[in-house]
Amino acid sequence: MRAIRAVSAFDGEQFLPGATVVVDGDQIVGVEAYAAELPAEVEVTEYSGTVLPGLVDAHTHLVADATIGGLERAGSMSDDALDEVILSSLRSHAAHGVTTVRDLGDVAYRTLLFRDVPGMPRVVASGPPITTAGGHCHFLGGAVRGTSQEDLRGAVAERVGRGVDVVKVMASGGFATPGTDQLGAQFTAAQLAVLVDEAHRNGLSLLAHAHSLEAMESAAAAGVDGIEHFSGLSVTSGSHIGDDFLDEVARLGIYVDLTMGNDRSFHALMPAPPPPLAELMKRFGVKDFDEFYASRIGTLSRLRAHGIRVVTGVDSGMAPAKQHGNVWRVVGEMAEAGYSPAEALAAGTSLTAEACGLGGRTGRLAPGHAADVLVVDGDLYEDVTALSRPVEVLVRGRAVEPTWTTS
Ligand SMILES: [Zn+2]
Repeated sequence: MRAIRAVSAFDGEQFLPGATVVVDGDQIVGVEAYAAELPAEVEVTEYSGTVLPGLVDAHTHLVADATIGGLERAGSMSDDALDEVILSSLRSHAAHGVTTVRDLGDVAYRTLLFRDVPGMPRVVASGPPITTAGGHCHFLGGAVRGTSQEDLRGAVAERVGRGVDVVKVMASGGFATPGTDQLGAQFTAAQLAVLVDEAHRNGLSLLAHAHSLEAMESAAAAGVDGIEHFSGLSVTSGSHIGDDFLDEVARLGIYVDLTMGNDRSFHALMPAPPPPLAELMKRFGVKDFDEFYASRIGTLSRLRAHGIRVVTGVDSGMAPAKQHGNVWRVVGEMAEAGYSPAEALAAGTSLTAEACGLGGRTGRLAPGHAADVLVVDGDLYEDVTALSRPVEVLVRGRAVEPTWTTS
């Protein structure tokens, strides 16, 4: 047994006046007061910073190496090459205090083999996303044969047969696949409803990737459990999302993931936006991607005001701005958008763990939960960016070497 004692603590929901977290193997067995006396055989490590649960990235692509085009290249890699990228992505997550990731798009279901590697973050995996023939990320191998009821149910059944944890569908086009319709939809609401029904019948959540307002509305009407990106793009309103729709999303309890957490110093390296988006930005007077990205902080504030459950996903691996391990930046952005430090940290830990189906297992410092523990240098209540300075990371009880982020 060992214990981690820190002068500040956040338990996944609230701040505590310091705490002593007792770990036995891969489990937390006690969360005691800072000054608690422990049996002599317990080895205690003391820290002047904050102890909290490990972070959760709700949207990663472990097969993508955070270079431009990396995800598409993964589509033609050998299994050995894919496994190497997956391991390196997982290592990077762990070094930045991420102890659980939800992978929303791999190749050949390779990430499922890495769900429980000792010392590596736990993986919640979707396998290749369901898409249309030639649709967004078709190169990952997840295109449906057709859009009949049978084809759609078959696509979900294939994933269930592979043992996935969650099902992902590309409801609109995406920026990583030129020529797909980012402003429109790939599936109708009725088709999405068939996918939702088949996933739910098998006890799985269904998440929809949606950049366009049209796809977001169809996804909500179809009963999806979560919407990824939530960019709100439409030819008539640019990227504005109406209050009525936000109320509806809140009422339905849909988890929303804006996939932020960018290292903005890399924005200059972004490829030019696809023509339809460039045209839209011009028409609505958005100067560049940086400006669009900054406007997303305003969207976050609105999600909070409407009572929408926001999860912390990065879409990590998709670009240099989206390094594996960036999820601490999302927490910072939530604070920037007006969330209290406790709200933002709860999103990055307990709330997103629950959204991933792992409530009761991780995301909290509580007895019986996995020993997914992060200690950072500084008082998170005063400054959430202290999350960029991990000093100790336990992934299911195993210590990994932390890495600080300086930019
Ligand atoms: Zn993605």
